[in-house]
Amino acid sequence: MNEDLLLEEHLKILKLPSFLNSYQRLASESSRGNRSYTEFLACLAEEEVLRRQENAIQRRIKAAKFPVLKTLDTFDFAAQPSLNKKEILQLYDCHFIDDKMNLIFVGPCGTGKTHLSIAIGLKACTKGYKVFCDTAASLINNLMEAKNEYRFSKKLKQLSGFDLIICDELGYIPFDRQGTDLLFQLVAARYEQGSMIITTNLPFSDWSNVFHDSATAAAVIDRLVHHSVIVQIKGESFRLASKVSEKQQ
Ligand code: ADP
Ligand code: MG
Repeated sequence: MNEDLLLEEHLKILKLPSFLNSYQRLASESSRGNRSYTEFLACLAEEEVLRRQENAIQRRIKAAKFPVLKTLDTFDFAAQPSLNKKEILQLYDCHFIDDKMNLIFVGPCGTGKTHLSIAIGLKACTKGYKVFCDTAASLINNLMEAKNEYRFSKKLKQLSGFDLIICDELGYIPFDRQGTDLLFQLVAARYEQGSMIITTNLPFSDWSNVFHDSATAAAVIDRLVHHSVIVQIKGESFRLASKVSEKQQ
């Protein structure tokens, strides 16, 4: 077997596809550029590492189950003057996840709560955090299903593997007693253990309308808010505003 074929066989067995793809190109560049053997190997190893990091990011983004991908680049801060851009950029660094803090976006419909949550979640994936994104209603449905199938503790354990859980749209649908209890258990399990981002259109004073009873609402708020950043967004719906300005043009 010729040398190249043998090397390629070995690289396949070792699962080093970037080595395989790039060794000939880098070898000829290296001989032209008088690179040392070590430099040549270092370049190949770097390509392999970068590729693996990129694959890991893509796997985390897929596992997060974002309904759509949004970034801060496409967020128009000028359209949302009630937001403190500096504060959002700080949150975008994701240090709040290391500190097991929660982030709560409160504001009317269409003001960018989901957009910002996804943008921060996406950034967290690129920084190596494990993220899971769901609506409050769907999260509770999944918890209920797990409970009914006697695998609730397993579900909680699985969710505890995520560094950040985004619970979107809390407040749109009221929960029954079981839903309220299960959400409380999730929030209690994550307290000081893992971060959550909550988006809601309801001020805290109205949360008792969503939870089955006001005592549980107070207990959930207590745990969520204790170590949290609360971002209040005011103003009108971006969707509505952009439709109006389209019409005026
Ligand atoms: P909310 O979750 O507060 O109801 P969304 O984040 O879903 O609102 O925003 C509604 C739509 O408007 C989305 O398509 C979002 O990307 C867009 N949007 C909202 N605010 C802004 C903004 N300030 N800049 C750019 N797009 C925005
Ligand atoms: Mg939303």
